This record gives sequence, structure tokens and C-alpha cells, in this order.
Amino acid sequence: THDIHIIGGGLAGSEAAWQLARRGYRVRLSEMRGSGEMTPAHQTDGLAELVCSNSFRSDDDTKNAVGLLHHEMRRLDSLVMRAGEVARVPAGSAMAVDRDVFSAEVQRTLEEHPNVTVVRERVDALPAEGPTIVATGPLTAQTLAESIVGATGQDRLAFFDAIAPIIHRDSIDMSKCWIQSRWNKRTAASNEDGDYINCPMTREQYLAFHQGLIDGDKTEFKQWEADTPYFDGCMPIEVMAARGVETLRYGPMKGVGLDNPYDTSEEHPQGRWPYAVVQLRQDNKLGTLWNMVGFQTKLKYGAQVELFRTIPGLENAEFARLGGLHRNTFINSPLVLDRQLRLKGGEHIRFAGQITGCEGYVESSAVGLMAGLMAAAELAGRDWTAPPRTSAFGALLSHITGDAEAATFQPMNVNFGLFPPLHDVGKKVRKEAYTNRAKEDFGQWLGAMETVPA
Ligand code: FAD
Repeated sequence: THDIHIIGGGLAGSEAAWQLARRGYRVRLSEMRGSGEMTPAHQTDGLAELVCSNSFRSDDDTKNAVGLLHHEMRRLDSLVMRAGEVARVPAGSAMAVDRDVFSAEVQRTLEEHPNVTVVRERVDALPAEGPTIVATGPLTAQTLAESIVGATGQDRLAFFDAIAPIIHRDSIDMSKCWIQSRWNKRTAASNEDGDYINCPMTREQYLAFHQGLIDGDKTEFKQWEADTPYFDGCMPIEVMAARGVETLRYGPMKGVGLDNPYDTSEEHPQGRWPYAVVQLRQDNKLGTLWNMVGFQTKLKYGAQVELFRTIPGLENAEFARLGGLHRNTFINSPLVLDRQLRLKGGEHIRFAGQITGCEGYVESSAVGLMAGLMAAAELAGRDWTAPPRTSAFGALLSHITGDAEAATFQPMNVNFGLFPPLHDVGKKVRKEAYTNRAKEDFGQWLGAMETVPA
């Protein structure tokens, strides 16, 4: 007998199990590895295995959003942070761990806990009833993925996660770009001036850029990734570029219907259309993050930064995240989940981890932690108060449960662009202002939250 069923013993599921168990709830934790099943990326049967890098990224909680998230997780006695300290290896200001020690520590803690039963089994369908947390990650087994598709009504779930780079709005040089929608078309949701930031290119700039796409270093597909089909609209920009020098000018970089106000030449037989253009589209409701339209790419991170900073207006661009393309499984959370990570129409089911559309070890663990707290509050019959939007937890949760644009939803790392902006604070001290405000507000929330001692 158990109070709650958690499916998936990865980062999010392990963290959720810990938060519930230490509050007195009996957890059944189902993990398919160890029952003869494996994902294409995992190598062991260990709980909370890190599938790739061994880094939890920056541990600086004064100037970095992921470091701030570490801080907030520690204040909630996160198992991932605890085990991370035990397994920690030197990595400058970053937090890196010995992956085997880390996984072993998570597993030992949970297996020794009297309230946790780890069951090695594959779950093939969403349970029809009973409190459940689904934390099966980016490589959710096929049968369960199909069951999730059935319940969420999304027509696709496991596919290439084609990520276009996302840029901080305040790092775009608006003296070279302008805001306008193509042909000035608009919808009810449109901004008054237009919906796109347009970065114009001359012929020379375009040709050099095109060559840069062809020549840039790319990451190779792993075999299991190569077997996953593309879906429409996910063609990497460099693959399109390789089809011909004009292809992009008839695709995402076409300049037609856009009037460049900086073009002062006399003759405009077709309007002041730029030879080519890079368009950015708003990515969050706050308007602090903008994505590069059509720029999903397999260029290596260094090559992306170098090449994309040659685009007029983006010379000093700061990237909230870079582009990428890998197999992923995630639901359209802003559409299908409520603010408490519950499935709309199936509220006994919560989702947690990367499958909710957060991205990264730390973010996945953090969303697992929150799902655990929410479920614990519900089991105790207590009301849930969300962490403040100004905190790292609150910013990330708000984004995935409703503030992100559902139509273009893609996995997101925690970053300051998700926080309510502090425009009045000078740029040099802004990051510290974000973390100071977060710590203050998070502390108040924590103090008010009725916690049951472990
Ligand atoms: P996971 O840690 O994957 O846990 C999900 C668990 O559910 C797994 O143990 C799986 O075996 C189990 N499971 C799946 N289906 C079932 C089922 N039907 N029944 C029972 N159990 C099931 N993030 C980073 O920060 N740094 C990186 O370097 C990084 N590299 C990545 C590389 C790859 C190839 C991938 C796919 C992702 C990477 N990520 C990385 C992204 C992400 O942070 C990790 O995938 C992270 O592990 C997600 O945590 P999670 O708990 O949501 O899922």
C-alpha cells in the first residue's frame, strides 16, 4: 500500500519521492531500468543517473539563475543537492559531481527510507486513479508515451526537439533592427507596432552568413537519434542552407513585405525590402526573451555564438539558450497542465521533470521537487501557495504552467529572462538585484509555508 505512485526514478522522480517520504507519505517509485529495460541514453540501473555531462552548471547564487535555483533547492533540503554535495568534484564556480557516487547516494537514501518502495517495473499506461506523479523524462518508454498522448490529446510527443536560439531582448541593438510584421499582417493577439524584430542583411552580409552556416562545426547524430523521424518544420537551418544559396531567402530569411526604415537609398521599386532578414519572435509573455525564427540548428554552441553575432543588431546578443536538435519527449504544459502541474481533466496525475518542458538536470530535479511539495500539500488537505514569481522556482514554474506561448512551446532552462523584469536597475548590478529580490521573496514564502518536519 502506498499514498502516491511515482513513475520514473530519474532526477525528478527521485527528488519528488524524497520530498514526499520525508513528510510522512508512502511512495511507490516505479523505475523500468533494472527490470530488463533500458533507455537509449542511460548506461546503468542506478536511480538518478546523469546521462551526459556531470555538471549541474553554475553554483553562483548571486549572479546566475541556475545557481539561484541550487540555493532555493538547498533551502528545501533537496536530495539532488544533498547527494550532489556528497559526490562533488572540483569545477571552479560550477557544481560538478562524480556521476556514480551521485546516483549511488540518491539510490541509497531512497532505498533506506522506510516510506519508499522502489519497484523495478515498466509502467505502460497512466493509472486510472490514485495520486500519481509521472516523471519518465525525455526518453519515456513508447507504450506509456502513447498513453500520455491519448490523455493529453497532443498529436505528437516523442520527436526531435528542434530548438531555435533564444535571445535576451535587452541585448539586441535596436538601432539596426526594427519591429514589424510581414505585410503588416496582424491578429487579435498582435502588438500594436508588429510582432517581429527584423535584422536586415545586405547581399554581401547574406552570402558571408550563408557560407558560415555551411562551414560551421556541427554535432553528429547518435545512432538512436538518427532512427527517429523528423517532423515538419524542424529542418536544421544549415541543412536548408546546403540545398542552395537561395533556399533560405525563399524560406525563413526572406525579406519580402518588410520595409527597412534604415534603407535610405532613393530607388525602391519593390518597397524597402532587405536582401535577406533574420526575424525574432517574442517567446514569453514578459517580452524579455525572443527566439530566432526558423533557426533550429545542430551547429556547435561556440559556432552558433560566433556566427549569430555577425547578424546586424545581434553583435552583442546574449543567448538565454542556444539552438539544438535532439530526441525529446515533452508535453505542451502551458496547454495541458494546470498551475499545480496537474493534467487538466485528469487531476490525479501530475507531471514532473523534463517531460513538462523544462530543460536540464537541475530544472528537472526542481520541477520534481515542486511536484512533490504540491502532492504533499494535497494529501494533507492543505491549500497550495505557489512560490513567488520573482524566485527561480516561481519563474520556472510560471513559465511551464502557463506563461510560455503554447503555440511555440519548447524546453526551457531557468534564466533571468523568465523573471519579472527590473528595467530600472543598471545592467551591471541587475543580476544581483534579481537574486537579492528572489532570496528575500523566497524566504518569506518558505516561512509562510506550513512544513511538516522530516
Ligand atoms: P530522467 O532522468 O531521464 O528519468 C526518467 C526515468 O524514467 C528514467 O530513469 C527512465 O528509465 C524511467 N522511465 C521511462 N519510461 C518509464 C516507464 N514507462 N516506466 C517506468 N520507468 C520509466 N541535461 C543537462 O543538464 N546536462 C546534460 O548534459 C544533458 N544531457 C542530455 C543528454 C541526452 C541524450 C538527453 C536525452 C537529455 C539530456 N539532458 C541534459 C536533459 C535532462 O536534464 C536529462 O534528460 C534529465 O535526466 C531529465 O530528468 P528527468 O527526471 O525528467 O528524466
